[in-house]
Amino acid sequence: MTASPGTLLRAEAVTVEYPAGAGLFGRKERLRAVVEVDLAVGPGECHGLVGESGCGKSSLGRALLRLTDIAGGRIQFEGRDITHLSPRSMRPIRRRMQMIFQDPYASLNPRFTVAQAVAEPLIIHRLESGRAARRERVLELLWDVGLDGSVAGRYPHELSGGQRQRVGVARALAVDPTFIVADEPVSALDVSVQAQLLNLLEDLRAARGLAFLFISHDLRVVRHLCDQVSVMYLGRVVERAPTDEIFSRPRHPYTRALLAALPSMRPGEAPAQRLPGEVPSPLDPPSGCAFHPRCSVADRPEACMESLPGLEDCGGGHLVACHMREKTEE
Ligand code: SF4
Repeated sequence: MTASPGTLLRAEAVTVEYPAGAGLFGRKERLRAVVEVDLAVGPGECHGLVGESGCGKSSLGRALLRLTDIAGGRIQFEGRDITHLSPRSMRPIRRRMQMIFQDPYASLNPRFTVAQAVAEPLIIHRLESGRAARRERVLELLWDVGLDGSVAGRYPHELSGGQRQRVGVARALAVDPTFIVADEPVSALDVSVQAQLLNLLEDLRAARGLAFLFISHDLRVVRHLCDQVSVMYLGRVVERAPTDEIFSRPRHPYTRALLAALPSMRPGEAPAQRLPGEVPSPLDPPSGCAFHPRCSVADRPEACMESLPGLEDCGGGHLVACHMREKTEE
């Protein structure tokens, strides 16, 4: 995979495995959560990562930040190979790459006030010396995420879900990152609050030139925020394209099924279709194309059951992993 000179984060053939207990004859099994994924994110770019739960999105996001060990592949960040850096060497780099979690309640220490929670990364990374400067910086960060100073003395349980997630965003911003992995940051929130949070992330991105890997199971959420979208299925990217292209001309049968399964926003409109079948176990993935047991394309060739389709460029940066990619053009 070639990355442009302006690439901020570049992943090559990244594979993540987890131990999965003993299999037949006591042989130790490994679950491959992410399999040979390439990805490039430019400065200020927002890359969406979508797919059903369990497809490896979060594992990939955590691996890119070196929060999960990788079993294979290479990760470059700001031009430096960080694949095998020690925790000590990673420390200054960690400042530049942050994570926003799905459940802000779980990610905040219940014994810390909002001010303490936002000040914590400043203390860990020794960014503001002196209480007064730190206090001022905390108030500034709260303001940046749309919270006023009156919440500074409150505890997480005294905040709404949206406020808690804003505190999570303020914590991530405290260390002045260039790249943020946002893992389902709005899925635990009400729809109206979701829109406010998405607007906030969009504003922060524009104001600070932040790059995002935005993980979501909901294609609609990535639509207005992301420049590019990668669709993952059972650990692999099966389609990648500029966002408009994914929505106007989806080519992979899985992407099409995901779009067809979106609930309708218009009253009276036909209900969404259900995604066909179940996600297979990554411990025993289907042969050939892993989507073949659920694929609705008619007259599929034997190759679908026998060989893994590669991710090929169909033109204009639209990549598809499907043996029938030519036939899915219309
Ligand atoms: Fe369906 Fe075959 Fe394409 Fe897989 S490779 S998505 S089974 S048509």
